[in-house]
Amino acid sequence: MICSYCYKSQIMPKHDVGHWWNNEQDSVVVCSDECYAELEKLVKEGTWLYHKPEAIFGKKKHKPSPNFEGPQSLTDKQFTGDLGKFLK
Ligand SMILES: [Zn+2]
Repeated sequence: MICSYCYKSQIMPKHDVGHWWNNEQDSVVVCSDECYAELEKLVKEGTWLYHKPEAIFGKKKHKPSPNFEGPQSLTDKQFTGDLGKFLK
């Protein structure tokens, strides 16, 4: 499990907070009372989405959203969907 506040991995989950996002139990957890309190603050402020430490998320390349400038690339799903049309 990864703490949803401090992003430490292999934690012993202390609190389950999935209900804040209507997620299933055990899918979102924090490792300590501090993380629980801080994350609750972020959720209430609505700033949780922006709480992403670079250590984790900075490694990923930032791709523009495929929907941002129209359909530049098809997802697999869209592709098979189109194929189905031609095969009928
Ligand atoms: Zn934590």
